Amino acid sequence: MPARKTTRRNSAAILASGIDPMDRLLAYCRAGFEAECAAELQQRAATLGVQGYARARPGDAYLSYVVSAGDVSALYRQLSLPGCLIFPRQLLLAGETLRDLAPGDRIGGLREALAGVGAVRALWLETADTNEGKALAGFCRKFTSPLCRALATDGLLRPADPTLPRLHLLVLDGSTMIPALSLPGCGSPWPMGIPRLKLPREAPSRSTLKLDEALQVLLSEAERARWLRPGMRAVDLGAAPGGWTWQLIRRHLQVVAVDNGPLQADLLDSGLVEHRREDGFRYRPRRSVDWLVCDMVEQPIRIARLAADWLYRGDCRHCIVNLKLPMKRRFQEVSRCLDVIHERLKETPHLLRVRQLYHDREEVSAYLGRVDGRD
Ligand code: SAM
Repeated sequence: MPARKTTRRNSAAILASGIDPMDRLLAYCRAGFEAECAAELQQRAATLGVQGYARARPGDAYLSYVVSAGDVSALYRQLSLPGCLIFPRQLLLAGETLRDLAPGDRIGGLREALAGVGAVRALWLETADTNEGKALAGFCRKFTSPLCRALATDGLLRPADPTLPRLHLLVLDGSTMIPALSLPGCGSPWPMGIPRLKLPREAPSRSTLKLDEALQVLLSEAERARWLRPGMRAVDLGAAPGGWTWQLIRRHLQVVAVDNGPLQADLLDSGLVEHRREDGFRYRPRRSVDWLVCDMVEQPIRIARLAADWLYRGDCRHCIVNLKLPMKRRFQEVSRCLDVIHERLKETPHLLRVRQLYHDREEVSAYLGRVDGRD
């Protein structure tokens, strides 16, 4: 694919085409999971009758999926629906990489290149989630205000209009950027697709952030308000030292924390936690609980079966589990887990959303819930 030059010299060519056509999707993902992300996009696009190919390099933490036949914006809208994709943290509608932006006049080059995009409601300069990307964070911070001012002067930045798309520039280095758009209501609402969560000092473990993020990403605000209410009952399998339990009691749920290992002592002082030193695969509550959460280190297929069985038997209504992935064939393994869950629950209306969260390493997180009209 020829690189598009964006120096003053060739600005006429850029003006003629802007960054049209937006003929590809741009996905951000965890570094090292580009192949899984590509396989997933390829599979989903094929299911929707779209042909294309992924351009991905291991370790980049992003990839493009170029559409060669089919409607790219329809594909973008379909795949941007909440809970649709597992491995991308963010999905955008993108144009070709802008290269050779002259360091002395990047703004001029971008202004011309972006003229064809039309008005946008916001501009986010982003980097890939890699060490190289982190090193560019200062550049992005400094560059955002002058570029916003320039776009506003050109009438392209209109923050008051929420119906407009947001413009994303994925900065690969000081002179190379990928222009992309997100439409209102589509994709992740957080820069780089990463919710900024702080580790509270009193939390028993860093793992607490995984459940916090899962609740933010896998549930909508309305669902959190309905499904996580004070006084609800939960079971936490593989609870020690208690980071997930802590998230639940923070929201005033009562928790049975199942683990042979010790829990941080102040959890027990809360009066909301009962510690059971039992095998998480054997423990079942005497009466149905609202929530099951599970972070046991086990084969993902065993956890998937367990979660589906809890739901099938009505032991819980909602469930969040962490699935630890193998080193190889990770996309296939996740797909196998989903098949097992859907098969077990084929006569039980259910909702399943799976994502690789920012705080997930070689893991994905899943929400599984009964749909029974009781909300
Ligand atoms: N979610 C916890 C937190 O936020 O602090 C961390 C959980 S740690 C990753 C996994 C835990 O699963 C370990 O404490 C381990 O003892 C527990 N575990 C593994 N297999 C288990 C089983 N069969 N039954 C109960 N607990 C188990």
